[in-house]
Amino acid sequence: MPQPKIIAVANQKGGVGKTTTAINLSYALGILDQKVLLIDADPQANATSGLGILTTNLKSSIVNLFQGDDDITQCVLETHSPNLKIIPDYIRLAELEINVQNTNVNRLKEALSKIKSDYDYITIDCSPSLGYLTLNSFVASDSIIIPVQCEFFALDGLSKLLSTVRSVQKSFNPDLDIEGILMTMHDERLSHNNHVIRELKKHFDDLIFKTIIKRNISLSEAPSFGTSVFDYKASSEGSTNYLNLSREIMKNQSLEKRTTLGKELHQILRDTNENVSFSPTFKERNLDTFKPFSFKDKNFEKLLGNTKDEVISQLGLVYNDLHSDVWMYRISEKISLFKKNYLYLYFEKNKVKHIQLRRFKYS
Ligand code: ADP
Ligand code: MG
Repeated sequence: MPQPKIIAVANQKGGVGKTTTAINLSYALGILDQKVLLIDADPQANATSGLGILTTNLKSSIVNLFQGDDDITQCVLETHSPNLKIIPDYIRLAELEINVQNTNVNRLKEALSKIKSDYDYITIDCSPSLGYLTLNSFVASDSIIIPVQCEFFALDGLSKLLSTVRSVQKSFNPDLDIEGILMTMHDERLSHNNHVIRELKKHFDDLIFKTIIKRNISLSEAPSFGTSVFDYKASSEGSTNYLNLSREIMKNQSLEKRTTLGKELHQILRDTNENVSFSPTFKERNLDTFKPFSFKDKNFEKLLGNTKDEVISQLGLVYNDLHSDVWMYRISEKISLFKKNYLYLYFEKNKVKHIQLRRFKYS
């Protein structure tokens, strides 16, 4: 029996492009004549509504499956694409997450075993958490795509995600692999976006997809028309990007062996960033050893309550995006992104609310 490849799209951070990727990658694989099933495993049901399915009209959904309904075929719905089917979801999936009775991590895997031979690819749009549903998805999957936004704080949470993958490998699914880290919402006009990609490539190497998803307005508009970017605007850069991603994934599958997750994951976990909260001990350090490059005022606590304009007047804008609420400044000069000390400023209502010093340790 032909075996489909089952790919979860996961990252416990919200807004990184999981749903956009799940929808458009699935659709693109369908364009390349693959039979695809997309599973919406996020209680927010964005993939379901993004493909134009009204959740209020649903008679059955992935919820039935988790409630012990064994006939999964009745949950499968058609989409605009003849090659793409969906197991939709509606808001009640949230109830499952809080029901502690649910401990069967094999539920999704078992249910899929009955229908998987109908497909070449099964994709799962995961929720922004590492709870029961995501665990079920990881147990059922062959590999995981991790969408990551091209921002300096992109690595936040990545170590937790990777250690979850590691423990699922150990306890339930030894073959689980990382399909790749996908850089999303890339804006080539922003130099820090390019910088982040360069640095991540240095460290994650083959784990980063060659295809980079650009920031593209059509990608964000398509869901409100209940369709993929291909139906909404086939000529857009978003269409090209996701078509390229699907080609890359199909090509990778034909390669004998790709990622060496075991070793690399171990390395990555050992080297994950260290979090140092801003504390009085920091003030006692000799800041000269940090070689701050343009800080006039070395008492960073003074920045609390400052507006963005005030911060810019003291530290410059450097890599930061005016519209972002997390800014960072480099405060020591070493070669790699991961060896530098960074000052993070978290804004709320245009004022610095929280300050954090963070060091990326990467040996
Ligand atoms: P997640 O599922 O991880 O929460 P989404 O896929 O819903 O993330 O994306 C978050 C928001 O960003 C959505 O409004 C989406 O339309 C938008 N978005 C995602 N990818 C892109 C992109 N490449 N270009 C422009 N907007 C994007
Ligand atoms: Mg989503």
